[in-house]
Amino acid sequence: MSETEMLSAAERLKQHFSSRVLNQVRQVIDLWRQLPGSQWSAERMTDFRTGCEKLQKFAQRFEAARHEQLARALLQILHSIQPGRSPDSAQLEQLNKLIIDLSKTALRHTDDKATGVPIPEKKPVYVALSHQDQAALMAEQMQYFGLRPELQISATEFQQALQRRHPSVLVIDHDFGGPQQGVALVQQLQQSRENPLPVLFTYSGNERPALAEQLQMMRCGGVGIYNETDVHSLIGQLESLLDVIPESPYKVLVIDDSRAQSQHTSNVLNKAGMLTEVINDPLTVLDVLSGFTPDLILMDMYMPGCNGMELAKVIRQQRQYLNLPIIYLSGEEDRERQLAAMAEGGDDFLTKPVESNHLLTTVRNRIVRARQLHQLIARDSLTGLLNHTHLLGALQEAMRRNTDRPLTFVMVDIDHFKQVNDTHGHPVGDLVIRNLSLFLRQRLRKSDPIGRYGGEEFAVILPDADEAQAISIMDDIRAGFANLLHDGKSLRVSFSCGVAQWQGESLSELVSSADQALYQAKHQGRNQVVGASSLPSH
Ligand code: GH3
Ligand code: MG
Ligand code: MG
Repeated sequence: MSETEMLSAAERLKQHFSSRVLNQVRQVIDLWRQLPGSQWSAERMTDFRTGCEKLQKFAQRFEAARHEQLARALLQILHSIQPGRSPDSAQLEQLNKLIIDLSKTALRHTDDKATGVPIPEKKPVYVALSHQDQAALMAEQMQYFGLRPELQISATEFQQALQRRHPSVLVIDHDFGGPQQGVALVQQLQQSRENPLPVLFTYSGNERPALAEQLQMMRCGGVGIYNETDVHSLIGQLESLLDVIPESPYKVLVIDDSRAQSQHTSNVLNKAGMLTEVINDPLTVLDVLSGFTPDLILMDMYMPGCNGMELAKVIRQQRQYLNLPIIYLSGEEDRERQLAAMAEGGDDFLTKPVESNHLLTTVRNRIVRARQLHQLIARDSLTGLLNHTHLLGALQEAMRRNTDRPLTFVMVDIDHFKQVNDTHGHPVGDLVIRNLSLFLRQRLRKSDPIGRYGGEEFAVILPDADEAQAISIMDDIRAGFANLLHDGKSLRVSFSCGVAQWQGESLSELVSSADQALYQAKHQGRNQVVGASSLPSH
């Protein structure tokens, strides 16, 4: 055996071991996700702890220091929870943080480059469309995002594929194999499963299927219905369905002058995995709001000093809390007064004593809707990236959090874009913009906020990267993007990029530094990345 062959054997062995560790990481995350559904039952908590212990053991054996450290930290918190109890808000928050750190270690190309760990193959996504050319196009875009599409040509082949392996998600035309046959196939498939498989239904042409059929789709595991050409939105939902990073936990602010009552409410919410903060003195609400940034407020109606309605009115005065759901919780049974309270900026009314499941369902539904709404408002419709305002909001938030770690702001501008539009037409220009957005999303980490800053300008926030690291990351992306063929034949487009590390200056100064660096990159000939520290004014 030659030396290189031996090396590659050792390399393969190492890869094999690290994929064992990563599989255990996924296992731990799965177990974590099941905890809230079981109300943190003792049995599920034991499963979770055993999973963490296994992870620690594997990580030790295969010398994965980071994983070992995270597993140890998780176990430490689990051991601090008294037997028979579920974690309180502080413990939940720590656990959540660790789980998110853990899931980041199991993510995406750029991440595995940093840690040297290969990603184990994901389960496939089955794509069963009636139009094969559309299916091929969709599959190509999915691969762009690191998904693993598998095309299904006919109903028979699809059935055979299911015999071999079930997918993680199914994308299927409602008319696959004949009118409404797609839905029938899914109904049949779901009967053989313990947990329903998530299904995204598609249709072609301009008309959505009739309401009765849409209802059928929802009843057999349908979680979305898309026009088959709306590939971008479909992939957006796929990403969130398959995402390894758990959604950040729901945060509820409980305002109640009674300590016993608020503690009880808080416990019920904690058991469902939600983070809570309790206020017994209503006059402190504004300070707590900006620090805790809740998804929802549960508010007692009658408190000394001020009542819930007055407080809701004051909160609603501030623009950023206009869409924050407020639910009143009170002994008030008088319908008239309840309605009056809702008119003052409340969203719902629960009468005490409220049954735990009723409380949880109401809170959960409200938060899900509010987060969906926020997504819609905060995102650019062409690319799905953060819009200008929300990107700057994310930057401000990052500046608040990242005081002891590096933080870098990046601006990207497509080169000679006017020419692209003039030569190839506006729709091709749009395609280039969308491709760049896909490219950035694919190459950067899930936790790096990316925004469409303006027409053909983008901005990226890189927490934990200093200027040199940011330049190297962006230069990789620049080189890759410049090689893409946008129309499949000859159209290549480049971008220029300015990078500025935060030195404690104001937000607008930081943005302006990145902008100057970008200007310099354009000035020096485009298709390059420039750091602000290299500018003469620096
Ligand atoms: P430079 O290399 O200096 O950046 O040159 P440029 O041509 O890219 O820059 P300029 O700012 O002169 O032109 C930007 C063009 O981008 C003008 C505008 O019509 C086009 N544009 C802005 N938003 C969109 C969009 O959403 N879609 C399309 N297709 N074009 C857009
Ligand atoms: Mg421009
Ligand atoms: Mg430009």
